[in-house]
Amino acid sequence: MKRTVLLALVTLVLIGHVVSAADGPGTTRIARWKDDKACAFSLMFDDSIPSHIKNVVPELTKRGFTGTFYINPGSGQYAANRQVWEKEIPASGFELANHTMTHRGGATTDDIAKEIRSCNDVIHATTPGLAWPRLVSWGQPGGIKPEAWPVTKEGLATMLSENHLVSRPDFGGRGAMIAFKTGPEMLAHVDKAIAKGSMECIIFHGVGGDWIATPLPVFIELIDGMVARKDKLWVTHHIAAHQYATERDAATVSVASSTAAKISLTLTCTADAKLFDRPLTLVTTVPADWTTCSIDQGTRHAEASASGGTVRYEAMPGSEAIVLTKLAKP
Ligand SMILES: [Zn+2]
Repeated sequence: MKRTVLLALVTLVLIGHVVSAADGPGTTRIARWKDDKACAFSLMFDDSIPSHIKNVVPELTKRGFTGTFYINPGSGQYAANRQVWEKEIPASGFELANHTMTHRGGATTDDIAKEIRSCNDVIHATTPGLAWPRLVSWGQPGGIKPEAWPVTKEGLATMLSENHLVSRPDFGGRGAMIAFKTGPEMLAHVDKAIAKGSMECIIFHGVGGDWIATPLPVFIELIDGMVARKDKLWVTHHIAAHQYATERDAATVSVASSTAAKISLTLTCTADAKLFDRPLTLVTTVPADWTTCSIDQGTRHAEASASGGTVRYEAMPGSEAIVLTKLAKP
């Protein structure tokens, strides 16, 4: 009998220890999306057309938003603005994505492979200084007759994988002026993504001009509505969201040590670090008296303020320890 009581006591103590460790300083969660936003949302623009340069780039820039452009470097409308597509747009932080070289398909499987590869080569050339291969977003061109797209599903999957291309979400249900025609309809799609905590997008063609054109006031109503929801939205590139989600799902965070003034953690990840090289957002419980702390990981250094007993910061998955150190009140 005595033995049973003792065992029960030991068990209670152990459970109590586990519970306090789970709530106590050092407890860390990987945020679902960057900066602990509710969802990741991408604005995508197809066919490298003039209204993107004239209307989309300035309106997004004004609001601090970014976007992903699915380009056709072999098209006439692209050639007319080559300098803007290859220099100004990438330099402003927008993402270029593969929509094939000419949008016209080809007569043979080799033609299709070339359409895909040449478009990637152009995108590669716009990122001097970055290591390749890199992941590139893929948006399959629509409206091509089956005879001009002589490639099987499996054949296409191989070409995409050889070029490190990542398919964007399906066009169906996401096309501007097709799936949604008004600002409120588009914002309802945004709100659904916030509620679900998912990665979502809207795919545009023309904006205030060109084809399948979204009227400019509709586009402005959407992006102003997104500004109003900024606390919940991570407006980002398709590849950034894909990298974050992949790393998040493949990462494990653990506490190595925790004292009143210092917390040491590790963040490991099974995704290929060459292609998945994006920091994750971590939220760590710290002692209640911390107001600011430093975050060191290898050569990375940052400072962050603690509020409500937690601190939010970015860390790279990998083998280097993450060290949070309490700083004296400034
Ligand atoms: Zn297209």
